[in-house]
Amino acid sequence: MTDDVLRIRQPIGVTYTWSAGPGSAAYLRGLTEGKLIAGRCPTCNQVYFPPRNGICPRDGVLLTDDVEIGQAGTITTFCIVNVPFLGQSIEIPYVAASILLDGADLAVQHLIQGCPVDEVHIGMRVHAVWKPESEWQATLASIAHFEPETDPGTGGSDRIDAKATNRA
Ligand SMILES: [Zn+2]
Repeated sequence: MTDDVLRIRQPIGVTYTWSAGPGSAAYLRGLTEGKLIAGRCPTCNQVYFPPRNGICPRDGVLLTDDVEIGQAGTITTFCIVNVPFLGQSIEIPYVAASILLDGADLAVQHLIQGCPVDEVHIGMRVHAVWKPESEWQATLASIAHFEPETDPGTGGSDRIDAKATNRA
């Protein structure tokens, strides 16, 4: 019999800072200010959001122009997540989508909320819903999610109510 320690469990963490570099700085700063800042390639004019570290993957040149793009866009593809996994923070089912924001040439990945998952479709118009301003940080998570645009004057809840009535 021995009193030697055979095993110890000790969580560790590493705190570090890093420089975003000129390629991502405007994009990340924009997210702290409620703006979506993309990078435009001077050669092919493609507008990248996110700006992919400031390099055009087609031409291999720096994205020299910062462009503010729209807060709304169109779903180009999506999936409905039904599988629970460790660390999941959102109640299933939920939708993860590729969204082509107005003025951008590259779709961005984000969550779709604010409507039943079976109403999400390719071509659906959605807009950004930001977290409270006090929670804005240099991350795309400053946007809580995207949700469907509603027709002015009717409102989203009216539309959902009408659909529920039709089903009855
Ligand atoms: Zn290019």
